Parts: sequence; structure tokens; C-alpha cells
Amino acid sequence: MKIIVVGGGIAGLSAAWELSERADVTLLEANATPGGKLLSASLETPFGVSIVDASAESFVTRKPAAYQLLLELGLQDQILEPEVDTSGVYLMRDRQIQPVPTSPLALLRSKLLTWRGKLRLLREPFTRSAALSRDESLHDFLERRVGVEAASIFGPVMAGIYSSDPHRTSVLASFGILRDLEREHGSLVRGMLKRRPKRGTSRPPRAVTLRGGVGTLVSALETQLRQRGVRIQTNTVVERVQAGVVTLRVGSRLSADAVILALPAPNAAALLERSAPTCATALRTLPHAGIGTLGLVFPAAALEGLHHLRGVMIPRSEGREIDALLMTGFKMPDRTPSGTGLLRVFFGANNPALMRLGDEALLAVVQRELRELFGVTAAPLTHKTFRWHDFPSLEIGHLERVSEIESLLPHGVFVAGASYRGIGVPDCVRQGREAAQRALEVQWQPQPLEVMV
Ligand SMILES: Cc1cc2nc3c(=O)[nH]c(=O)nc-3n(C[C@H](O)[C@H](O)[C@H](O)COP(=O)(O)OP(=O)(O)OC[C@H]3O[C@@H](n4cnc5c(N)ncnc54)[C@H](O)[C@@H]3O)c2cc1C
Repeated sequence: MKIIVVGGGIAGLSAAWELSERADVTLLEANATPGGKLLSASLETPFGVSIVDASAESFVTRKPAAYQLLLELGLQDQILEPEVDTSGVYLMRDRQIQPVPTSPLALLRSKLLTWRGKLRLLREPFTRSAALSRDESLHDFLERRVGVEAASIFGPVMAGIYSSDPHRTSVLASFGILRDLEREHGSLVRGMLKRRPKRGTSRPPRAVTLRGGVGTLVSALETQLRQRGVRIQTNTVVERVQAGVVTLRVGSRLSADAVILALPAPNAAALLERSAPTCATALRTLPHAGIGTLGLVFPAAALEGLHHLRGVMIPRSEGREIDALLMTGFKMPDRTPSGTGLLRVFFGANNPALMRLGDEALLAVVQRELRELFGVTAAPLTHKTFRWHDFPSLEIGHLERVSEIESLLPHGVFVAGASYRGIGVPDCVRQGREAAQRALEVQWQPQPLEVMV
């Protein structure tokens, strides 16, 4: 069976991995290297090399697909556990940077909530569940469960993970597990307690990263896929997909029994425009936005006094330029040589105009923010910017729209990746592998694919 995977991000690579011993697989990637958004760069400093991840720098194991893939690839000895001290998570509110309470004691001490807000939050286990089947915003869900005050604290922190606004973010697409807990246990607290692993059970760390950055996963996949005979064609832009035929920008055509589009929805729409216009229109209903990261390496002394911070979320309502800050060097000291400190600034959601600035102008804005918010006055030793214009916005009703898209796909064509059923690396791995399994079933269809050239 011949299967073409279009897009060599982690979803496409995972699809190819799932297929590699069961089909004749070709993976087509527009860029010079596979990996898509999953990319690690080496930055030279006078102290040695710092490794900065462009997008994800670690991923959770609660959703097991990515961790499982690491094990299948034999990367056990490359797995590192980033420090997951949630007490270092801060939120900017009313121009103050305040710790987000993550334990009952921290909650009682927190200045973010009034006593009234704290009491309402503590009533969560006794709050009736709404038994909703429809989607709602993350904010509305939290307000129902933990009250408006706590929703206004936790909403921006949770939506911040998706660079989105809690009032517009779909709870089902972003934190569907919370609705599961409510449905199954009638309360988030009760559900979490019930689902807590039993003492003594061995389990992987909550989150993992890799020696050398998450790019290690991409290189291992590329090497082992080639060893298994998968053809990986980089610098290859696909222009059109019809049932059974993939047309490249250079004009040549490849035939396949099934095609997996492991692409952001706008790219998939462009490919299906002529063969499946209704599906292309449905794909375009999924909004995407710009997002970027700027990795900065400072002399360690410049970050003196910030060692209590791990991450800071800055909601849109604060009117600042940047969206968030992650102190990567404190969480993963192996990423940067001693004598230096590595941090990553997220931008694009609070002020979309930053996406259009050149690297030096952007650096100037970020340095001003770091000076005003954190007192960092030194110039960085080195820096690197990454930008994307196709980051999914998981708006209310997202999963229903994805189901509709799936029902409109031409026979033998499948979609996978961050635009659809989960943004995180584990979700992308799972979707890639599931699409591969569905593609393999195409061969059992009674009729061969119709070739419409
Ligand atoms: C800033 C940021 C931080 C993140 N942090 C985390 C995190 O901490 N933890 C976590 O789990 N996840 C995180 N993520 C999410 C995760 O990194 C991405 O969702 C995931 O890597 C997307 O993978 P993908 O394969 O779906 O898409 P992509 O990586 O976008 O891959 C799509 C590929 O398709 C190719 N392509 C497009 N059009 C064509 C065409 N016509 N022909 C051929 N090829 C084409 C592209 O070049 C690209 O390589 C983060 C994402 C971002 C942006």
C-alpha cells in the first residue's frame, strides 16, 4: 500500500512512524528540514553553547503518546525531567507580579483572591454540576465550578498555555479533561483525588524533555524512519491533493492509496481547494493566529534576584507588549552553560503588531519590557527569534467544526496535527498515529480509489 504523508512536523513524522513497517511511505516536507514547529537551535555564547527550543521545550506524560514514542525510539537515556515546581508560576495582575496559588496553603495566603473568592473556591466539591453536553468558554466553565474570582486568576494562566483569551477558548478543546472530571465525579477536586495514582505505583515524571532539546526527538525520528525505508523529501511543497494524487509545486504528480495531511488547517485548505471545496471552506473556519518566541541568553548575574520565577503569564488585560516569560535556564540548567541564564519570551497574542517587527526592533521592545517588569538591564549575550503565523485558536465549538471537516474529507484523505484535536506534542503524536491507522484501513475498501486528474 502506498501512503503519502504531507507535512513533516511531529504529527506527520509520527504518522510515518506508525506506517513505516506496514506500508510504502513517502513524507513530503516544504522546509529544508523536518520537525515543523518542533525545533531546537544552538546559540553560541562566550561561555559555550546554549540550546533554545523554538516552541515546545517539554511535554506532559499524562497524555502518553509522546512519552511512548520516546521509548519506542530507544531514547530512554536522553529523557530529562524538567523541574516542575509549580510554586514558581506567576501571574501579572494589576501591574503586580504575583505567585499563582497551587496548594491549599498558598491559596489561603494568596493576595490574588479575597476571602469571599477563597470560600467560593473551597465550595467547589459541593457545587452542582451542570451536565452540559455543549461546549462553553474556559472562563464560563471555571466560573461555574470555582467562582468568578478564581476564574479570573486561573483562566488567564490556563488559556495562556494556548496564547488565547479564556473568554473565547473552548473548554472542550483545551481542557476537556476538566469537563470529564465534572461529568464523571461531579467535582474537579473529587475527580482529581479519585484519579490520583496509588502510592507506590511507578509512573513517569509529570513532564519530560530531552538532552539537547526537543529537536533530539525529531532527529531520532528522521534517522530511524530513513532506516526503515521511509522516503523523506524535504524542500518539497505540495500544491494540490485529489483522491489518490498529490501534485507538487514543481509540477510532478505522485499517486497514493491514501494521503495524510499533517498540516495546519489553512495549508490543508489550500491543497483541497479544487478537489473538495466544501471541505476547504470548513477548514478555513478554524481560526489561526500569529505567535512567536524570543530566546535570550544573559550573563547569569543579570538575572540575579529572579531565581524564584519559573514562568510568568501576562494577560491581555494588563496592556503589556509580551505574553509570557519562561525561565528555561532555571528549569533546565543543562540547556545553558554555567555563567549564563536562558529565558524565553512569548509574543504575538497581546500585541499582534510585534509579529511584523524585524528582529532588532523586536529585541528593543522585549528588552524594555524585561527592564520595566523584572529590572533586567543588561544586554543579552545572544538571542534568536522564531515566528509562526498558523497557531490554532481553539475557539468555542472547535471540536464540532473538526468533526464536520473530517466528515467532508475526500475518501482516502486524512488530517492530523495541532489544528484539529489537541495542540500539545502528545496530542499531535497521537493524531498522527491514529490517522495512519485509518489510512491503513483504506486498503480494505471494496473499491480502489478513483483517480481524478
Ligand atoms: C510557542 C509554542 C510553544 C509550545 N509549547 C509547547 C509545550 O510546551 N508543550 C507541548 O506539548 N506543545 C507545545 N507547543 C505545541 C507544539 O509544539 C505544536 O503544536 C506542534 O509541534 C505542531 O506540530 P504539527 O505537526 O501539528 O504542525 P507543524 O509543526 O506546524 O508541522 C507542519 C509541517 O507541514 C509543513 N507544510 C506546510 N504546508 C506544506 C505543504 N504545502 N507542503 C509540504 N509541507 C508543508 C510545514 O513546513 C511544517 O513542517 C507549542 C507551540 C508553540 C508555537
